[in-house]
Amino acid sequence: MKVSNLVILGPQGSGKDTQADLLAKEFGFVVIGAGNELREIAKTDTQLGKKVNQTINVEGRLVEPELIVAVIEDRLSKIPPDQSIVVHGFPRSLRQYELMKASWVRLGRRNYKVIFIELPEEEALKRIGGRGRVDDHPEALKKRFELFNSETMPVVRQLENEKKLISIDGSPSIEKVQEEIVNRLGLK
Ligand code: AMP
Repeated sequence: MKVSNLVILGPQGSGKDTQADLLAKEFGFVVIGAGNELREIAKTDTQLGKKVNQTINVEGRLVEPELIVAVIEDRLSKIPPDQSIVVHGFPRSLRQYELMKASWVRLGRRNYKVIFIELPEEEALKRIGGRGRVDDHPEALKKRFELFNSETMPVVRQLENEKKLISIDGSPSIEKVQEEIVNRLGLK
């Protein structure tokens, strides 16, 4: 099978990590979740760990673009270039996207496709109810939606212009959404 470099974007609660995990299980993709990577770093008792914890769990902001790009590049550099990958929750801003392009050229992953899982805010909020993450209090949720609209939607629009975007309706069941992703990527 040809090597695939995939990105999954979508608002919080749209099922990015669930769908990435299913691609891993069914088709052997290696999954890298930007938020998961940062939560791991935030747990470490280092200066960087404290800084990341403050940014993501206390202030609920995005970390610096250079930082998240370096974290993803570090992970990817340890994965053989013939291994298909799926990254979710990145890039979340135009600056990140710009840095990502240069980084992925360095890594030999110049070609990529982006899945955008669309989900209305009310539906996403209902789903997040059961997650129990420390950063899932109402104020933080609201802020993350605002950040998604102001920072990430411009990336989505640019990807659409570049004809790299595959938009998927995230409201059906997990299985139906997966089926749609698999079909649109031509994986079966
Ligand atoms: P997530 O698990 O994707 O909801 O991410 C959790 C938190 O990590 C976000 O609310 C941000 O504070 C931070 N984060 C995740 N991905 C990124 C990214 N690509 N750029 C900057 N910050 C990020």
